[in-house]
Amino acid sequence: MIYTEPACAKLNLSLDILGKRADGYHDLRMVMASIDLADEVTVSFVSEPGIQVSADLPYLPRGGGNIAAKAAERFFQETGLPPAGLSIHIRKRVPVCAGMAGGSSDGAAVLRVLRRALAPEMTEERLEEIGALVGSDVPYCVRGGTALAEGRGERLTDLPALPPCWLAVCKPPCSISTPELFSLVRLKKLRCHPDTAGMIAALERGDLEGVARRMYNVFEDVLPRRYVQVFEIKSALLGLGAISASMTGSGPTVFGLFRDREPAEQAAEVLRGQFGSGVLCRAVGSGRHSFS
Ligand code: ATP
Repeated sequence: MIYTEPACAKLNLSLDILGKRADGYHDLRMVMASIDLADEVTVSFVSEPGIQVSADLPYLPRGGGNIAAKAAERFFQETGLPPAGLSIHIRKRVPVCAGMAGGSSDGAAVLRVLRRALAPEMTEERLEEIGALVGSDVPYCVRGGTALAEGRGERLTDLPALPPCWLAVCKPPCSISTPELFSLVRLKKLRCHPDTAGMIAALERGDLEGVARRMYNVFEDVLPRRYVQVFEIKSALLGLGAISASMTGSGPTVFGLFRDREPAEQAAEVLRGQFGSGVLCRAVGSGRHSFS
């Protein structure tokens, strides 16, 4: 049996940090949207025991270090089903270490496939719980779509889809350490928090401008100077006609939101020339609806 599953990237329409928890994690509140920039994850059931992972990017972990393999191992541990021999191949399209949850999404794609093939009676909620044991972003990636993610990211509430729009997404060549950013947040008082309730109300009204006005990521407030490209890309996007632009996750990827396709396409092209990366994307619906 061979299954091919898309593993969509996510963008943070907002990212807020509410505090630090006793368990060392931070309490987050994020509005996330899946986009049509996706890896292609192929899961083959094979006769040899064990889980093999390969990818078209040679530097990704091949064995148990890959999030796709970790997800499969967790699935068998949690369900008690006899571990099947799996050969997983990832065609990587989502930039790595980009704040777009590419690895988590690969893990989530594997979980969806295993549930479909081996445990069709399992609820979506149970699959998300297994995902939470793999990584904080995995439950959201299992579900996909537009959602509010709270806690470590595992407490999810479905939200109305982002109103029709176009996105220009740019991952500059630098990479940012997520633990370093979290440590900086502790050291410095955040000057501003996103209006998450206002963004949810705007989504409920289908008000794209209202969403755009409230796009904000608190990590931008503590970003060290050496990541100046993040702000250069934001200004470039705004200059190229984006209604709004923001960094996603712990960066360094920046995206701009456009009402119309043409300026978004042009912006992606300009960014490719200036920063070596620029992709035109659209938001996509939830995993429940688009990946059956
Ligand atoms: P997040 O937005 O969840 O913080 P990210 O986009 O910053 O994630 P990823 O690309 O998901 O980062 O993962 C980066 C790290 O995870 C790299 O060190 C990479 O080697 C490792 N990794 C393990 N499995 C994968 C995978 N399937 N795809 C990408 N990275 C993987």
